This record gives sequence, structure tokens and C-alpha cells, in this order.
Amino acid sequence: MHPPVPGAESACFQRNAQSVASYRCEVAEHRWVNDRYKYLKLSATADLASLTKPGQFYQLKCPTTSDLKPFLLRPMSVYGIGPEEGTIEFLYNVAGVGTHALAHLPVGDHMDIVGPLGNTFALEPSFRRIMVVARGVGLATMAPLLQHAAKAGIKITAVMSARAPRDLMRDEFLRGIEAEVHCIYDSDGSSSVEAADVLIRRLLDEEHHDIIYTCGSHRVLMLLQHILVDYPHTRGEVAMEQRMACGMGVCLSCVRLFDRDGDKQFLRVCREGPVFPICDVVGEVEFG
Ligand SMILES: Cc1cc2nc3c(=O)[nH]c(=O)nc-3n(C[C@H](O)[C@H](O)[C@H](O)COP(=O)(O)OP(=O)(O)OC[C@H]3O[C@@H](n4cnc5c(N)ncnc54)[C@H](O)[C@@H]3O)c2cc1C
Repeated sequence: MHPPVPGAESACFQRNAQSVASYRCEVAEHRWVNDRYKYLKLSATADLASLTKPGQFYQLKCPTTSDLKPFLLRPMSVYGIGPEEGTIEFLYNVAGVGTHALAHLPVGDHMDIVGPLGNTFALEPSFRRIMVVARGVGLATMAPLLQHAAKAGIKITAVMSARAPRDLMRDEFLRGIEAEVHCIYDSDGSSSVEAADVLIRRLLDEEHHDIIYTCGSHRVLMLLQHILVDYPHTRGEVAMEQRMACGMGVCLSCVRLFDRDGDKQFLRVCREGPVFPICDVVGEVEFG
């Protein structure tokens, strides 16, 4: 852990903060942002804003409907925190049973959430410029990080990847902060591994970046791991999305293999993560 620097405290996060509890929240806002994603704003009586750090997630108890009966809680990254003490925001892809049931929850109803869970991104006060490479729902996970970085005066390069321009959610990601934004798409080939490799290397060559964060695409993660070998002074962190059940480190359903300087370890994404150094991720699971 790094000591806080006056004036930049908001950028220095404690890892694995221990304050997990169940909170009953009221639905303050719930609306579609496009045809796949919904925005959910919850209000609790507890001070969730000061408890919750960028990169952390909550387990959401999705409601049941007449035909949708989600059993397990669903992990969701925190998309926004505050400014009111009890306010917490999520941005989610309406994907399967749980999120379809969740999408029916009306404003004014209540739901339970458990958290905050997991560790946080390492955003250090000494950083001058960071890069975020976001795709899909990864933007929800990294959006609070951008807010903290901007508040701390850290410059931001954002590479945003999407299937097509209509899927990008640029405004939802930036939420009013200033960043140098580069948009790449599957529809015109600019998000191909080869094209993204050229773009990211050019950006790293033009200006030093202290760290690259990513979330939302295994392909992008593997590309960054490959690129960062050639940039030893730029760190890398990824928020991993892994199917999980309890979210608290007990059931072990979310373990993945990591390689810490040659030391192969199975780690729980929910507990030791979800944020890991990019260089530690093992692409293909190896046994023996
Ligand atoms: C740490 C973390 C943060 C996440 N943050 C977000 C976010 O901010 N926004 C968002 O849209 N999605 C996020 N996800 C993915 C989200 O949890 C799944 O989309 C969601 O659980 C799907 O549930 P479902 O019932 O709709 O789908 P179903 O396929 O019906 O789910 C069946 C089971 O598989 C699990 N599951 C399915 N897909 C995933 C997945 N991709 N990751 C983990 N578990 C999964 C479900 O939790 C459930 O237990 C996150 C996942 C993790 C692990």
C-alpha cells in the first residue's frame, strides 16, 4: 500500500478493504441506455460511497418474476459511486435469467446487494498519464477509475473498442471527464488485433504511460500482455470477468491460473481479484 499524498488521497486505494455487508437499497433510477444495456441507480441508508473503490463489485440479488427465477446472486462492477453517501450505480448487459429479471425492477422497489467485494485498481498519486483500453461491459468497471484519475489531475488516454459506432457508449464511459479518446470498431477492421497493436504501440511511443488498465475482452488482454513485454516501464492491470457463485472466496468456482514470476498459482478472481497484473494472467489453462 502506498502512503496517501496530500491532495491526491482519492487516487490512492487500499487493496482488499474489509467492509462487506448486505445492504437493502431502493431503486432510484432504472432505464435503458441502448437496446442491450441498462443503467441502475440504487440508494442505501449506509455510506456506500466511502466504502466502495473503483474496480470493486457487488453481488446483486436479482428479483424473481413469474417465469424468471435466478438462484445465485449476480456479480456487477460498480459503475458509479456517490455523490450522495448512499448512492451506487451499475451499468449492465441484459444477458440471461438474472439480468433479464433485474431489468423488470421498477423505480421505488427494493433489492439487496452484498459488498463491496474484491480488490481495486492501483491508481497512484505519482502517475502522470494512464491508458484505459475498454470493450463492452469493461467500460462499466473502469468508469469510476476515470473519475478518480481526472480528479487527481492524471491525464487519460482512452482506447474504446466496440462492434460498431452505435455500440460504443462513449458518453457513458467518460461521464464528462476530459480524455484523449481513440475509438476502434469491428465494423471497419480498426479493432483487429493487428490494427490495435499498431495504435497502442504508437500511443505508448508518443508519450510515457505509467499504467494500462483493461477489462471486457480476453483478446485485448492477451494483446496488451504481448505489447507490455516491450514497455517495461509501463505497468498493466486487468479486471477479470469470471463466472462465479458466492463471490466471497468460499466456493472456489472462480479460480484461475496465474503466473507470478514463474510461480504458478490458482487464485480466486472474486477474492484475490478481480484486478490482477496483466503480466500474471495465463492465457490457456495448463495442468501438470
Ligand atoms: C467481477 C465481475 C464484475 C462484473 N461486472 C459487470 C458489469 O458491470 N456489468 C455487466 O453487465 N456484467 C458484469 N459482469 C458479468 C455479469 O456478472 C454477468 O453478465 C451476469 O452474471 C449474467 O447473469 P445472467 O443471469 O443474466 O446470465 P446467465 O447466463 O443466466 O447466468 C447464469 C450464471 O452464470 C453466471 N454468469 C454468466 N455470465 C457471467 C459472466 N460474464 N461473469 C460472471 N458470471 C457470469 C451468472 O452470475 C449466473 O450465476 C461482471 C462479472 C464479474 C465476475
